Amino acid sequence: MLNLIKELCALDGVSSAEDEVRRFILERVRPCADEVHVDAMGNVIVFKKGARATGKRLMLTAHMDEVGFIIKNITDDGYLKFAPVGGIDRRVILGKRVVIGKNKVPGIVGLKAYHLVSAKEEKVVPKVETMYLDIGAKDKASAEKLVAPGDLAAFVSDCVEFGDGMLKAKAIDDRVGCAVMLRLIEESLPMDCTFVFSVQEEVGTRGAFGAAFSVSPEIALVLEGTTAADLPGTPDHKKVTAPGKGPVIALMDNGTIYDRGLFELLRSLAERNQIPWQMKNYISGGNDSSAIQRSKSGVRVAALSAAVRYLHTPSSVAAVRDFEQMFQLTRKFIQAVAVLQVQGS
Ligand SMILES: [Zn+2]
Repeated sequence: MLNLIKELCALDGVSSAEDEVRRFILERVRPCADEVHVDAMGNVIVFKKGARATGKRLMLTAHMDEVGFIIKNITDDGYLKFAPVGGIDRRVILGKRVVIGKNKVPGIVGLKAYHLVSAKEEKVVPKVETMYLDIGAKDKASAEKLVAPGDLAAFVSDCVEFGDGMLKAKAIDDRVGCAVMLRLIEESLPMDCTFVFSVQEEVGTRGAFGAAFSVSPEIALVLEGTTAADLPGTPDHKKVTAPGKGPVIALMDNGTIYDRGLFELLRSLAERNQIPWQMKNYISGGNDSSAIQRSKSGVRVAALSAAVRYLHTPSSVAAVRDFEQMFQLTRKFIQAVAVLQVQGS
C-alpha cells in the first residue's frame, strides 16, 4: 500500500490536468476490471463484478486531482503571474519549487526582495497577486518558448518516510483514496462495485457531479484525505483529527451531513474488527460527497479519510498505518453492504 501511495504521490495532477494520474490508474485497472471508461470530464469509471448480484448500486470514489497554480500572464522580464487552483494557504507557497505544464518546466515561487519590504508589509502574508513564478528566463520571449498562459503548475516534493511511521509527500489528499480503490479493484469483491476516480474535486467537486449522474448509485463511499491539526498550541476541541489514530469516519463537514445509518455501520465495523477510528471534532472542509449526495433523487453517502497534517501543501504528513486500516475498513464496508439491510438515516 505504501509503495503504491508513493508512486501515486510522485505524479502531477493539478485540477483539470489529471492526465498522468489517469494514465497510471487506467494501466493498473484494465487487467482486473470488467468495464472501464473515461467520461467527458475525465473521470475514470471502473465497474467490477462481484461474487453475487445484490441489486444494490454501490459507488466508491476518490479524486485524482491536487491543488496547484494556473499561469495568468508573462511579464516583460520573463516572470509568470499566477492564480491558485484549489484552496492553497498562501503562507506556505513562497520559495517552493514547482513544475509547469506538460514539459515540466522547473520554477520557484518568488517574491519581492526582503530589503524592499516595509515594516507594515512585514506583518502580513503577501497576496498571491504580488508573487510570481521564476523560471529563470531572461525575458518574455524566452519564457514564451517554455510556457504559456493557462499552463498549470504543480508542487515538487519528494515522498519521505520519517519519524514514527510518518510519510511526507504532496497530494496524499487524495492519492491515498486512489490507492485504496486500486487495491480493491485488484481483489475479488463480494458484490458489484463501481469505482470513480474523479477530476476537479479541489475546485468545487466538479467531476463527481457528472459521475454521480451516470453511475446513479444508491450508496456512495468517498475515500479521502482530511485535515489534521494535532499541533502544538492547538486547543483540543480544534485538533480536528490526528494521524495515527485510525481512519476518520465523517459525520458532518461544510458540504455534507452524512447518512447516519452508514456512519453507524462504519463505526460498528471498525469496533468489531479492532480497527482504530476517529471522528472529526471540528466542522471543516468538504469533499465529493456533497455533489454525490445531491445528485438525481439523492444518494446515501459516507466518507472515510486518512488524517493529513498540512493538507494542500507540498509537505503533507500522514501516518502510514492509517492507510492500511483505511483499506481494511473499506473492504469490511463492502462486505457488509453486500449482505446487510443497511439502516436508513
Ligand atoms: Zn481531498
